[in-house]
Amino acid sequence: MTKKIFLSIITVSFLAVTAAIFLLTGVSYRYAADTSAEHLRQSCTMIASAVEQSGGRYLDETDFGELRVTWISAKGRVIFDSQHDPVQLDDHSDRQEVGEAMRSGEGSSARYSDTLMTRTVNHARRLSDGSVIRVSAEQRSFPALLLKNLQPLAVMLTALALCSFGLAILISRHIVRPINNIDLDHPKTEKSYKELAPLLKKLRKQNGRINRQMIELRQSREQFSLTTESMSEGLIVADQKANILTSNTSAYTLLGAEKHDSDHTVFSLCRTEQFRRCIQNAMGGRRSECLISTDGGERKVIASPANSHDTVNGIVVFILDVTEQQQLETMRREFTSNVSHELKTPLTTIYGISDMLANGMVKPEDVPALSGDIRHEADRLITLINDIVSLSKLDEEEGAPRQDEEVDLYELAEDVISRLRMSAEEKHVTAELTGDHVTVLGSRTILDEVIYNLCDNAIKYNNEGGSFSVKVSHIPMKAIVTVSDTGAGIPEAHLGRIFERFYRVDKSRSRKIKGTGLGLSIVKHGVSYHGGTVRVDSTVGKGTAFTVELPIEKRRT
Ligand code: ADP
Repeated sequence: MTKKIFLSIITVSFLAVTAAIFLLTGVSYRYAADTSAEHLRQSCTMIASAVEQSGGRYLDETDFGELRVTWISAKGRVIFDSQHDPVQLDDHSDRQEVGEAMRSGEGSSARYSDTLMTRTVNHARRLSDGSVIRVSAEQRSFPALLLKNLQPLAVMLTALALCSFGLAILISRHIVRPINNIDLDHPKTEKSYKELAPLLKKLRKQNGRINRQMIELRQSREQFSLTTESMSEGLIVADQKANILTSNTSAYTLLGAEKHDSDHTVFSLCRTEQFRRCIQNAMGGRRSECLISTDGGERKVIASPANSHDTVNGIVVFILDVTEQQQLETMRREFTSNVSHELKTPLTTIYGISDMLANGMVKPEDVPALSGDIRHEADRLITLINDIVSLSKLDEEEGAPRQDEEVDLYELAEDVISRLRMSAEEKHVTAELTGDHVTVLGSRTILDEVIYNLCDNAIKYNNEGGSFSVKVSHIPMKAIVTVSDTGAGIPEAHLGRIFERFYRVDKSRSRKIKGTGLGLSIVKHGVSYHGGTVRVDSTVGKGTAFTVELPIEKRRT
C-alpha cells in the first residue's frame, strides 16, 4: 500500500512539476520574445532615422554589439552588414522581413537555426530612398530554454522523490492505521472510515455466521464424542494414512493401548500382524476383519474403508469384545466332545457285555451280575441324556419370556426330599427341612431341578451316616434356599469351576459316584433363568453349603 501511495504521489508530483516548468518556461519565453521584438523594432527605427540623417557614415562609426545591422539597397543588394562582408552576401530582397519592408515600409520575421537551439529575430524598415535597414538579434529557442532548465528540474525531481517517499510513508501509515486497528472479531463501523462501513458490516455478519457454525460444529462434535464414549465397542476414525482423527476410550481399553495426546497412527495401538494386515486391507479399499488376543481377552476388529468416488479417504475401525462369544464357542466345542465321550463310555460297556452274552461267552452264574452292569450303564445313559435335555431346554429358554407360576419353595423342597428318601436311606443320610413357606414366581419344573440337583449332591457326596438340611427363608424381596451337608467338602481350588459343564472334582472318586458333571450347571442356569444367584461355601472334611437367592416378584394383575 505504501508503495502504491508513493508511486501515486511521485507520479502526480512529477506531472505537476513538469507541467509547471513547461508552462513557466513557455510564459517567460513568450515574454522575452515579445520584449526583444519590441526592443529590436525600436533599435531599427532609431538606426533607420540615424541613417536617414547621416547616411552610411553613421553605420561605419557605430558599434552595434550583438545586434546585426544590415543595409540593403532598394534592389536587394547588401550595402552594409555589421557582422559580415557585404560583398559575400547574396541578394536579400527575398528575405521575408526585407520584402515586407519594401512593400509596406516595415517587416519582421523569425527564423530557427538548423539545430533549433537558436532563433534569429529580424526587423526591417524602409528608408525614404527605398533602401531597407534590417536589425537582427539572436535569441535562445524554446527547446534551448527548456534544456537550460533541465538541471534545476532534475534537482527538483530528486527533492520531490525524497519528499514523496517521506510523505507516502506518513500518509500511508495515517491511512492504514485505522484499518490495522480494526478488531476483526468485533468490527465497529464508527471507529473506522465510513467507506469501509459496508465491508465491516459484511464482516460482522460473516463473523456471526462463522460463530454460529462453530458452535453447531462444537455441539455436534461433543454429541458425537459423548455418543461414542458411551459405546462399549471401540471406534476409530482415521485418515487415508491411518492417522487417528477421532477415537473413543473403549478402542484403547479393548486394544490394551494407552491414549497419547500427540498424533499417532492406528498401527501404534496394536502391533500384531493380523491387526496390521486388517488395517492395510481397509486402506487399500477392502473391508477386513480379524480376531486378536489381548491381555484383556479376545477382540474382533472390523476395518472398513471410507470411500468417496472410488478413492479411499479414510478408514473406520470397530473393535468388539468377543471374549464371551469365544468362551461360549470353546464351551460348545468342549460340550460336544464331552457329550460324545460320556455317551460312548456306557455304550461301549453295554455293547461289550451284550456281545459276550450273545456269543455264549458268559458263564450262567455271571449273567445276573453282567445284566446288573448293563442296567447300571443304561441308568447312567438315561441320567446323562436327561441332564443334557434339561440343559439344552434351559439354553433355549434363556431370553425367552417366562411362563411364571407361584411356587412355594418349602413345599417344593419337601417334595424333592421325599423323592430322594430311598437314596438317602441307602447311604444312611438323614435329611432335615426348616424355614418358612416362601413363594416365588417362576418355573416349577426348573426350580424343582435346582433343588433336586443340590439335594442329590448333598446325599451323593456325603459320608455314610451323614446328614443334610434344606432351609427356606427370606429377606426383603429375596427368597433364600440353603442346602448344606456334612460331606467331604470341596477343595478351594475347585470351587470356581464346579458350575462348569462336565466338571467333576475328583474324577477317579466321582466315577464311583453316579454323576454326569452337569448337575451344578443345571442349577446355575436354572437360578440365573429366575434372575437369582447361587454361591457355594465349603470346608474340606466338614461339609458344603449351597445358597440360592431368588428375587421375590409379585404377580402382575
Ligand atoms: P455330578 O453329576 O458329578 O454330581 P455336579 O455338576 O452336580 O456333577 O457336581 C460337580 C462336582 O462338584 C461333582 O463332581 C463333585 O465333585 C462336586 N460336588 C457337587 N456337590 C457337592 C457336594 N455337596 N459336596 C461335595 N462335592 C460336591
